[in-house]
Amino acid sequence: MSTDPDCLFCKIVAGEIPSDVVREGEHTVAFRDLNPQAPSHVLVIPRRHEPDIGSLVAAAPDEAAALLEEASRVADQEGADGNYRLVFNTGPDANQTVFHCHAHVLAGRSFGWPPG
Ligand code: AMP
Ligand code: ZN
Repeated sequence: MSTDPDCLFCKIVAGEIPSDVVREGEHTVAFRDLNPQAPSHVLVIPRRHEPDIGSLVAAAPDEAAALLEEASRVADQEGADGNYRLVFNTGPDANQTVFHCHAHVLAGRSFGWPPG
C-alpha cells in the first residue's frame, strides 16, 4: 500500500503522531481536526497515501467509496441527524494544506452558501 514517510497524515495512520480517533475502518481512519471549524469537525482519511480525492478514486475506487461510507457514519455517530457538510478541499487554490486525501465532516451548526 502507498505511504509517504514525510506525510503528516501517513504518520497519523501509522500511530507515529497522536490523534483523537473517532472511527477506524479497514481502509480509513477518522479523527478530530486540531483546529475545529464547527462544534463537530472530523477528518476522514484513507490509509493509502493519495494526495487528493481525484487520485484516490483513480487508484482505488473501492477505497474512495469506503471513505464516503465512513464519512456518513461519522456524521451519524456525531449526532448530525442528516445535517452536516462534507468537504474535500482539493488543490492550493481551494485551501488544501495537507496533501493526503481527507474529507472534512462538519456538523453541529448551520452553514452558509456560497463558501468563502
Ligand atoms: P485542508 O486545509 O483541507 O488541507 O485541511 C487540513 C486540516 O488538517 C486542517 O483543518 C487542519 O486543522 C488539520 N490538521 C492539521 N494537522 C493536524 C493534526 N495533527 N491533527 C488533526 N488535524 C490536523
Ligand atoms: Zn500520506
